[in-house]
Amino acid sequence: MKIAIAGAGAMGSRIGLMLHQAGNEVVLIDRWPDHIKAIRENGLIGEFEDHKVTAHLPIYSPEEIVDGHANVDLIVALTKSMQLEAMFQDIQPIIGEKTFVFCLLNGLGHEETLAKFVPKENIIFGTTTWTAGLAGPGHAKLIGSGSIEMENLAPQGKAFTLEVLEVFQQAGLNPIYSSNVRYSIWKKACINGTLNGLCTILDCNIADFGSLSIARNLIESIVGEFAAVAEAEGIELNQSQVIQAIEATYDVNTQGLHFPSMYQDLIRNHRKTEIDYINGAVWQKGKNYQINTPYCAFLTQLIHGKEELLKAK
Ligand code: NAD
Repeated sequence: MKIAIAGAGAMGSRIGLMLHQAGNEVVLIDRWPDHIKAIRENGLIGEFEDHKVTAHLPIYSPEEIVDGHANVDLIVALTKSMQLEAMFQDIQPIIGEKTFVFCLLNGLGHEETLAKFVPKENIIFGTTTWTAGLAGPGHAKLIGSGSIEMENLAPQGKAFTLEVLEVFQQAGLNPIYSSNVRYSIWKKACINGTLNGLCTILDCNIADFGSLSIARNLIESIVGEFAAVAEAEGIELNQSQVIQAIEATYDVNTQGLHFPSMYQDLIRNHRKTEIDYINGAVWQKGKNYQINTPYCAFLTQLIHGKEELLKAK
């Protein structure tokens, strides 16, 4: 399959590399000049737990995507949420009539953004438990294993989605065809909507947050807001199941000692966060449904305040 990875940061590098290793024709598209330069000069380095690989994959900036690159069968969207719209504006020349887009970003509201560029019948949504990090430009750290849930947005997209599932299966990405991917997306957003922002503002890891006397109350309040807005969108979030999933991460033997990705982006690397697509999306959607979401509103503004203080880019 001819596949473009739109947003070849940590996760885009992982998925792109694994699809390439399985024999697909993979093109990377990214905006970070140092990353493009490093991959062009030295290839993309993928550092797995027990081995290192170097893949000489073509990489372009979105501005370099012109008609000459021909249409691709599939575009895997893996920008950060706030970069998605600009990316798809720029890569329109590779979106043909038959091109499918598979959105694997975290967060809410991407359906509306992608629908501006691609018909709903050609959109696949997913969530993943794979993780990845960047040690530097052109160098991805690919620890651990994971799986990917996927489902077509419109019934007409099912046949091609099953082809994509097969391709991801061959690449060892452990895909699962989901019967309700929107539920999984909301559930993941809700988990991220608690631990990401709270650990970032409180400057602590997940276990330290979990040990606080206020942890349960904060979690219940935020999950309650997500559930109320999700219900208005036709999704019945099981609040106790979500709270259980959040509290399971406090264990120091699993994820407890981990600092959430928002913490790493903002506090360690002074990079802007995806808060507007997590708690911020619930706040904005809540306004439309006249549902009050004071915890999400407050947390969104605190994170933006921290971004300003740290001059995040
Ligand atoms: P990322 O920050 O690694 O990459 C996103 C973009 O930022 C890329 O274009 C990348 O080149 C650029 N970038 C990265 N580091 C940079 C730097 N230091 N300076 C300038 N530009 C830089 O993002 P990601 O972690 O790959 O996440 C992409 C999407 O996948 C997000 O929606 C995220 O929430 C989701 N996701 C990530 C993980 C993970 O483990 N990383 C897991 C599941 C889902």
